Parts: sequence; C-alpha cells; structure tokens
Amino acid sequence: MLTHTLGFPRMGRARELKTALEAFWAGTSSRAALLETARSLRLRHWTAQVQAGVDIVPVGDFSLYDHMLDMTVRLGVAPQRFRQDGQPPMPDDLDAFFRMARGGEGVAALEMTKWFDTNYHYLVPELERGQVFRPDASGLLEQLAEAHDAGLRAKVVLPGPCTFLHLAKSVGPDFDRFELLPELTQAYVELVQALADPKRGAAEWIQLDEPVLALDLPQALPRRFRTAIETLARAARPARFMLTTCFGSMAQNVDVVSGLELDALHLDLVRAPEQLDGVFAHLAPGTSLSLGVVDGRNVWRVDARKALALLSRAVERLGVERVLVAPSCSLLHCPLDLGDETLLDPELRGWMAFALQKCEELRRLADCAAGLEHSGKASCADWLAENARAQAGRAASPRLQDPEVRRRMAAATPEMLFRALPYPERAALQRQRLGLPLLPTTTIGSFPQTRELRQARARFKRGELPLQAYEEAMREAIRDVVARQEGLGLDVLVHGEPERNDMVEHFGERLSGFCFTQNGWVQSYGSRCVKPPVIFGDVSRPAPMTVAWARFAQSLTDKPMKGMLTGPVTILCWSFVRDDQPRAETCRQIALALRDEVADLEAAGIRVIQIDEPALREGLPLRTREHDAYLRWAVDAFRLAVGAAAPETQIHTHMCYCEFNDIVEWIAALDADVISIEASRSRMELLDAFRRFQYPNEIGPGVWDIHSPRVPGADEMLDLLRRAAAVIPVERLWVNPDCGLKTRAWPETMASLDNMVQAARKARKEL
Ligand code: GLN
Ligand code: ZN
Repeated sequence: MLTHTLGFPRMGRARELKTALEAFWAGTSSRAALLETARSLRLRHWTAQVQAGVDIVPVGDFSLYDHMLDMTVRLGVAPQRFRQDGQPPMPDDLDAFFRMARGGEGVAALEMTKWFDTNYHYLVPELERGQVFRPDASGLLEQLAEAHDAGLRAKVVLPGPCTFLHLAKSVGPDFDRFELLPELTQAYVELVQALADPKRGAAEWIQLDEPVLALDLPQALPRRFRTAIETLARAARPARFMLTTCFGSMAQNVDVVSGLELDALHLDLVRAPEQLDGVFAHLAPGTSLSLGVVDGRNVWRVDARKALALLSRAVERLGVERVLVAPSCSLLHCPLDLGDETLLDPELRGWMAFALQKCEELRRLADCAAGLEHSGKASCADWLAENARAQAGRAASPRLQDPEVRRRMAAATPEMLFRALPYPERAALQRQRLGLPLLPTTTIGSFPQTRELRQARARFKRGELPLQAYEEAMREAIRDVVARQEGLGLDVLVHGEPERNDMVEHFGERLSGFCFTQNGWVQSYGSRCVKPPVIFGDVSRPAPMTVAWARFAQSLTDKPMKGMLTGPVTILCWSFVRDDQPRAETCRQIALALRDEVADLEAAGIRVIQIDEPALREGLPLRTREHDAYLRWAVDAFRLAVGAAAPETQIHTHMCYCEFNDIVEWIAALDADVISIEASRSRMELLDAFRRFQYPNEIGPGVWDIHSPRVPGADEMLDLLRRAAAVIPVERLWVNPDCGLKTRAWPETMASLDNMVQAARKARKEL
C-alpha cells in the first residue's frame, strides 16, 4: 500500500526560507543565494519524507511565497499593473514575482485572503474578460528534474482550475470568471502534457487539488467542473492522475467525479469520514482511493484504530493495490518536527505528531492495513499496541479533565448569556457614568511596539531581565502611552498592550489547559509564520490575567481606561485545538475563564472592557448549512464571557475585516455596547449592511487605515465621519482607527491621532 503526502511545510527547521527571503528583500543577499536555499530545502524535505516512509513525494507544493501566486505566474495571468508593454512577467522574474506578492512603488500587491478555512493566506488572482493564458511549465519541470535526479518517486501538485477560478476575483463589470473555464482548462492541458511527456517531465503522478469540491457549488458549475477534470485526466496520460479534495466532504459534489477515469481520488476522512462508504459506487474500475486519515491540520497523533477501520473498509471493497494512505490535506498547515520540541512536557509530547511524525504514521498505517508483519523497527502489532496505549493514556489523563471546569460547564444556564438590562437602558447608564461627548474618540488597544519594548519582553522571558526591571519598563511604557493620549485629548484610553507579544499567546500563557511549542511554526503568508498555542485540556484561569496592568493604567488618569481582552472565539481559532471534544465546548470553557476576568476588571474599577473577536468570521464553516450552528455557539461564547458585566460597564468588541453582509444579525446578537470595525478602506460602504439590518448598538467604523504609514488628514477623516453619520445615527457613532497600532511608528501615530481628534471635534459641531 502506497503512502504519499499532498504537500509539505516550506519554511525549514530553522525557518531558513524566511531568513533567505527577508535577506533578499533587504538587498543583503543575492538571487542565487535565495534560489539555492529554496533548492536545498526542497531536497531536504523530500528526503526527510522518504526516510519517514513516504513512497511518493510532492513536487510543486513548495513556493517562494505562495502556491496560488506560482499558479498565476505559471498561467501568465499577471494583472495589467504588473505588465510591461502588455507582456506578463517571465516566470523566473523574481522582482516581478515579489512585486505581485508585496506591492512596489505605486503598484498595489495582489489582494491576500485566507485559504479556505485555514490560517494560510494566498494571493488572489485577478481575471478579466477575454483573459489570455500563457502556460509555462518550466519552473515545475525544473523541480521535477531535481526530484528525479535525487532518485525519488514524485507527484507534481497543481491547484486545480476549478479551485483557481473559484478563488480568483473577477475584474471589470458584468464579468463571470467561470466563463474562462474552457480556456483555462486548455492552459492546464498544456502544463499537464509537458509534465507527463516522457521526453520532458516524465512525471509518474500528477495531482490536481480541487478543495473547492468540499463547498456548496452553484448549480451550473458541477457539470462544467466535471468536463474540465475529465479533460485533464486524459491529458495527463501516460502519467497517473490524482484528484484531491480536502477540508470537508465532497459527497454533495460526487457527480463531478462519478465514473471518471481517474487513477486516484483523495478524500479528507479526518474532517468527513462519513463520505467514504458512499464513494465506492462512483469509482471507475481503475480508480484507486487515497484515504486522508492522518490529520494535516492539527498536532495530535493519529488514532490508529480509527484510521485502520477506515482503511480496512476500503481494502475490502477495492483491494490493497487500490488504496493509498495520506494526510487529510497538505501538511503545510502543521509544524515540521516534534523532534525539535525538547522543552515540551513529555506526557503532552507523547500525544502529538508534527509533519514528519505524521509521515511515519502513514507508513505504519499502510503496512498494518496491508497486513505486513513488520513496519520499520517494531512489528505492526507492537506499534498498534503502543498507539492504543498512548490514546488510552491521553483519554484517561487527569490533565485533560478539570472537575471544577466540568462542574461549571454543567451548571451554566441560558440566563448567563444575558446582561441584566437591554442595550437602551444600559446605554443611558453608561452615558451618565462615563460622561462621554458625542462621537467619543478611542483606539483599538495596542500602541507602537518599539524595539526597546520588544527587547525588554524577550530579555525578561529569557531570564536576562529581572522581574522588577521588566515591570518598571512596562509601567514606563504605560505612563508614556497614557500621557500621550491625554495630551491628544482622546476620550476613552487604553494602556497600549506593551506586555503582549501576541493577543492569543498572552492569554494562552495565563490559562491552564494550554501549552506552547518552541518551534511549532506554521506559515501564515509569505515569510510570515505563526506559532499557535496548543489547547490540550480543560481551560481555566488560575489567576487574573490583565487586571494588574489595567488597574495601574486607570490609576494614571480620570478618563475611562479600557480593559483589553481577546475573545473566546479568537483564542480558539488561532490555537491548535484538542480533538477529543467539540470545538464549541472548548470555546465555552475559554468564555467562562474570560467571564471571571471581566468580573475582576470591574471590581478593579475598570468601566469599559473590550473583548476582541477579529477571528469570529474566519471561523465560519465552509458549508453554508453549518453557518448558523457555528454562529450560534460562537456568539453565545462571547455572551457568556460578558453576560455578568454590570449594565453600567460598557462592553466593546473589535473586528477587523470588511465582510459583514451575511453576518450582521449575528454581530447584533453579540449585544456588545460598542463595536469597532475596519472601515476606512471601504470608505464606510460596509456600514450599509449595518443600516439595512438596523443595527441597534454603537459602532466605531475605523477612519484611519493603520496598515500603511500614511497619515490621513483631519478633513479626510471628517469626510469619512460624514459618510458614517449618513447611515448610522450620530449619537451611536464612535471615532477610532481601523485596528491596533502596534505595527506603526510613533511619529505617524501621533500625527494621525491628532488629526483624528480634530476631525471628531469638527464633526461634533457640524453633525
Ligand atoms: N487589541 C488588539 C490590538 O490593538 C486588537 C488586534 C486585532 O484586532 N487583531 O492590537
Ligand atoms: Zn483589528
């Protein structure tokens, strides 16, 4: 039974790719050096996979920035602004490539957005009517040759045309990019033929990734998708052709592939094991099934018993030769090597597997399912017994369950989701207590994080800076930030978050049930990686997390100081989450912990508390029919966290994205007294959704795009306020930036905030 992976992490053990990219961008290293790093990473990663027991390694999954951008370049569909004399850049033109990724003088980069429901961001292709495609397989052919030279069995990976079109955006009026599918398919045919040609690529396998098949597709598409895939399967001969789906069940789209002559079809059986039984009847006699039974999205060891049950069902129906074993999706979404985690608690470590360990699991599973006696060092029976012991040990571990948390969860009542008074009455009390002017001004939480600040935190963490000196550095930063805000004349102040490295990590470190890795990096976009905390057990709050700094900050001013928390859904979405209970349960536990924090902040005299939920929307399931169930528990978790706040305590929330259209009613259901949102780039257009829904509470639509160092003028912001006031009653409007200011520098921050306060003053007179 063959094992394969759909894709692999790119960064390298020491994030070598990040270092190489950033040196290249800074002009301190050469193109040749960057390409050499990339080449050696590819080779190292292939070799490591093979050594772990993978039979067929992926080629083309590697990218210097993003695999969708690679596809855009490979298809020759760079948008006009990146062309010279109408010609798209050559695929090996690195400067042009990075200009598309990161922008350049006067040219905006391609938009970036999330890859399905992962935290990986891809660059959005832009397509226009009459788009011409110029396929170029040279880059892939080179990488394929590298793999062949190393004596490896290789499978070339391509994001499929259906997924490519789905994820692209249409430029220009009345243009439906799916019109391009036939031409796009032809371009893919050329690529696939070059790769398959025994005299050129001589690829053994070609893998077409179509995660779009896990979504609900508009009616006309499945038939057209089928034609495209069928065409490509044929064009791929004599190479073998594998179609992959992932991130959910493809059962609703099984007609797309039913009876097609594919060499293999891959299913994500971690997300959707239930789709297996229904698929057999749709397989052509020569089609093998690739079973994604090892979780490519999380850090836990495989449950061998469950995985083998699925594998045996497939073997019974198809025979050993027609079954392959794989991770559920590309391993891009999980960290590289658990072997590097020397500081992790050994018990927790024993429950985990990172990308390389997952490759070993594939080998074991394949050998056990094929009935081979020995798999590597241990016999199958031994490995299975060891795996079962580990699973049982984890399930029975006292560290998983906290009786006190269980008791509180069971005792939680629906009344706990409700504030004592409805918004209009709360608003009156809050107005009285806080004494705020019309159009109150505030910021989102963080202030510029200078190098000294970051250094102080890092040195404290390493034990180089004593606690007292660290705390004094933080106090100094807070004093400075408070004084500046008073000087500027802002109405509701913040402490600036100098003690926080990351808005999730900061809380994870203070909650039980969380652990942290040293090297568990996952690519977020380009050279950027995140190191998500791992939630392994019941979550509780041993002690107040933010109260001391909030109290100190409030002691420096008579103005209201906002307490600043990260919301339960955001903490959940940006962590690796335990897989032994529903996410909703884990989220509720976090909410209960935050509920205590809210109470303690109130008791410390904090009158305004903000609970950030920037990840609320991205947690939305891929399938529409699952949206409401998710939004219900997500919104309830937020309400559970704030429900006990006194009516005169003003609860804020913050979200930074601009797609609210389909979820405004749920945003309203949060019942936060005030929400701040990113709005400046859409020029307040997104407020329309709030107007249409008659959003009842207060809103602070951002008037300053904090993603750029540009200082917006007071008049510009006044204009945005006028636009906002045209849709939302002025008594319910706040004035604030789009998001936190931690990535900005001080000069532009002061200038912009000064202009923002001026704009608010003018608006108060005028509106
Ligand atoms: N309070 C956080 C900050 O200001 C919010 C960050 C976010 O929305 N991503 O940095
Ligand atoms: Zn934000």
